[in-house]
Amino acid sequence: MSEKMKAAVLVEPGIIEIQEKDIPKPSPNEVLIKVKSVGLCGSDVHYYEHGRIGSFIVEKPIILGHESAGEVVEIGSNVKNLSVGQRVTVEPGVTCGVCEYCKSGKYNLCPEVEFLATPPYDGAFCEYIAIRSDFVYPIPDQMTFDEAAMAEPISVGIHAVRRGRLQPGETVVIMGMGPIGILTAAVAKAAGASKIIGVDLEESRLEVSKKMGVTHTVNLKQDNLLEKINLLTNGKGVDLALETAGNANALKSALSAVKRGGRVVIVGMPPEDVATLNISNIVGGEIDIYGVFRYSNTYQTAINMIENSELDLKNIMTHYYSLDEMEEAFEKAITDKTNAIKIMVRP
Ligand SMILES: [Zn+2]
Ligand SMILES: [Zn+2]
Repeated sequence: MSEKMKAAVLVEPGIIEIQEKDIPKPSPNEVLIKVKSVGLCGSDVHYYEHGRIGSFIVEKPIILGHESAGEVVEIGSNVKNLSVGQRVTVEPGVTCGVCEYCKSGKYNLCPEVEFLATPPYDGAFCEYIAIRSDFVYPIPDQMTFDEAAMAEPISVGIHAVRRGRLQPGETVVIMGMGPIGILTAAVAKAAGASKIIGVDLEESRLEVSKKMGVTHTVNLKQDNLLEKINLLTNGKGVDLALETAGNANALKSALSAVKRGGRVVIVGMPPEDVATLNISNIVGGEIDIYGVFRYSNTYQTAINMIENSELDLKNIMTHYYSLDEMEEAFEKAITDKTNAIKIMVRP
């Protein structure tokens, strides 16, 4: 008989069951990790509510959660880079390593990727996960597991800022002050942006964003975005706009907010696949548009940022739940957008 663990399983949209599952056995190249902290991500909430994101559909019960950190408790026979007892954070997408995307370093585009909590692959809202050792990164002693789990959403910010080719001194607007928007602001700050304009409808989120790198805020309930941007950029528009809200109107605003020759990075995924955009502005202004899909080669950078920067991630970690309280955690994320920014689950 194999040993059992507890897992929070999404059996159908809106219903989480705590089930007993076999503790996974690490294969020769894998390590077994005792999960200590997992961030609840917007994508988890989306699967919980709707059972799908775009073409990814939950067809059988699934364990969600992909922003995880924990402790190595067993290593496969081939594993040389890790040892039992190490505290680690986990990059959730295991890639093939041989396709042209993997070989060119853009492994986030690997068609063979097995990504935690993306159907059909289970995630980390459970007590143990087994994962290939080259996607597991040791963390410094003083870093908490909660902080280490944030290497995942910070990675999205790092990749977005890299894709947007942000240069020191440039001006930036970020649409959406959810965890990704706020952490992207923190990365933009670290990369030397001068003005970072955070945009949202929730005043509480805008307040938090100011502690994390945002220099100016726009509350769409009361401010006119383009007026405010013109005021802050001498009528020119920003160098770089990052859309993290996953909203087609926010994307249109992002396109209007950049200066001629500016760049727009699309990080958020709107519910609808198709949006109408003003092509003449894009062409006439030579605006570059970049898509962002997850990230590659960001984890060590993210760990270093958490370790060395002034970044206080406790500003965004607003609520903590155990595995048994998983349904409450999801309901909190759905019903309390004012107060809940990043919800942490500690199995
Ligand atoms: Zn995430
Ligand atoms: Zn590949």
